Amino acid sequence: MTNLDVGATAPLPLPLVAPAASDDILDSVTALVGNTPVVELRSLARELPARVLVKLESRNPGGSSKDRVALNMVRMAEATGVLAPGATIVEASSGNTGIGLALVGRLTGHPVVVVHSAAISDEKRAVLTAYGARLVEADWDAAPSDPANPRAVADRIAAETLGAWRSAQFENFANPGAHYQTTGPEIWRQTAGAITHFVASIGTGGTVSGAGRFLKDVSAGAVKVIGANPTGSTYGGDVGGSILVDGVGTSWPRDFWPATFDHAVLDDIRTVGDETVYRTTHALAAEEALLLGPSSGLAVAVALETARTAPPGSVVLAIAPDGGINYLTKAYNSAWLHGAGLSSSALAL
Ligand code: PMP
Repeated sequence: MTNLDVGATAPLPLPLVAPAASDDILDSVTALVGNTPVVELRSLARELPARVLVKLESRNPGGSSKDRVALNMVRMAEATGVLAPGATIVEASSGNTGIGLALVGRLTGHPVVVVHSAAISDEKRAVLTAYGARLVEADWDAAPSDPANPRAVADRIAAETLGAWRSAQFENFANPGAHYQTTGPEIWRQTAGAITHFVASIGTGGTVSGAGRFLKDVSAGAVKVIGANPTGSTYGGDVGGSILVDGVGTSWPRDFWPATFDHAVLDDIRTVGDETVYRTTHALAAEEALLLGPSSGLAVAVALETARTAPPGSVVLAIAPDGGINYLTKAYNSAWLHGAGLSSSALAL
């Protein structure tokens, strides 16, 4: 018998103990929610006195910061019993909260209805459909008192669906709570407490209020919290007009500001013109290879402006709420840009 024969017939060596559950194997896709990376803008902020960092929420499994919110809202609703097993979840969403809920709904056995605007991108619509959500279109510009208003439509569908639950992201404190519990602490840890300015674009206000409140609390008020607002949104004090940046701003009057937007946390709200928003979005792709959504361009435009006048050594962090793949037919499409009166600036679109 040769050594080779022994090798060929001997059983494979068995591990001495049964393999332990591995950190490399996740229990479910929800384990991927949160803990998103932070990247420094080395090119766009090259000549500025402050560092500019971007937190990439596109790395959440549903592709946006709203996965955190969806998961927290559903967990809280199940824990408190307002969401019964198998009950339908109804939400009015520009897309990302709907995607987060549709993803969580798949795993927890809840059908999801998403009331959306006509302006939703084809990509987001396709993602929602792939996760099995039912889509209903509403008039995004209708006043809250108007039955065509998306939240009114969502309320009506919930009332007509047995056992349905309205997740109500504009009123649900599990929305800012998700950012207070996860996004804020992650930023503090990732910057080793060096962050001086926090910038987030405002939709429901959940991100800027929740993470902003945590950063204020943990820094004894030292971190400055700045909201980024698109032209046409009343959050910045404008009279309402058309908003060209998905997922952010509101054209409702000030007295309809959402309960989830705690403006006492904010030191400032800066409004940015659409041309600058899209130029910055495209520059992020062209110079930093960061393919992000336009609300990321909005937040980064404010972060760069902040860094320009900040004391040397400041650390400015902007939230990038989602990625660019869901906007290939809008923000990265020359026909759409020209139709909206915008240029494709830094990119050869
Ligand atoms: N960007 C995008 C693309 C969004 O969908 C949202 C949420 N609607 C935001 C930014 C703003 O986040 P928040 O609702 O936490 O203010």
